[in-house]
Amino acid sequence: MRVGFGYDSHRLVEGRKLIIGGVSIPFPKGLGGHSDADVLCHAIADAIIGAIGLGDIGTHFPDTDPRWKDAVSIEILKYVIELARMNGFRVAWIDTTIIAERPRIAPYVAQMKDALSETGIPPGAINIKAKTNEGMGFIGRGEGIAAYAVCLLDKI
Ligand code: MG
Repeated sequence: MRVGFGYDSHRLVEGRKLIIGGVSIPFPKGLGGHSDADVLCHAIADAIIGAIGLGDIGTHFPDTDPRWKDAVSIEILKYVIELARMNGFRVAWIDTTIIAERPRIAPYVAQMKDALSETGIPPGAINIKAKTNEGMGFIGRGEGIAAYAVCLLDKI
C-alpha cells in the first residue's frame, strides 16, 4: 500500500467559471489558472502522483504547455489514475477537504462524487469535506480557495 498527500490553491478572479470537483458552481467569480483551476482535482492528482512517487502535477502537466491550457481537470485526473494503474496501483481510498469562505460547498458534494467517478474513482472510495477558514487569511478574505487530499493506493 502507498499513501499520498496533495494540496492546491487558486486565486478567485472575475470572468472565470468556478469549477470544483468537476462541478460548475454558480458564483460571481471563478478560480484563475492555466487549466480550469479545479483545486480539488489538482489536490487529488498530486496525492496520487505522490503515492506512486513520480513527482508532482507540475512535472506531468507543466503550465507552460499549451496542451493543458483551459484543460478540464477531470481529464488530468483520468490521466493520473491511468498513470497509477500503469505503475501497478489502484485507488483504495481518498479523503479530501475543500476550504472556501464562500460559496457554500456542501450542497455540491454529491455531484462532485458523481463527476469524480468518471475518472475511475469509485463514489464509495472518496470522501469530500468542506470548511470555511473562519474569516482568516487569504481564504477568509475571499481571495482564493484551497483543497487538501490524502489517498491510499493498493498494489494491483
Ligand atoms: Mg492547481
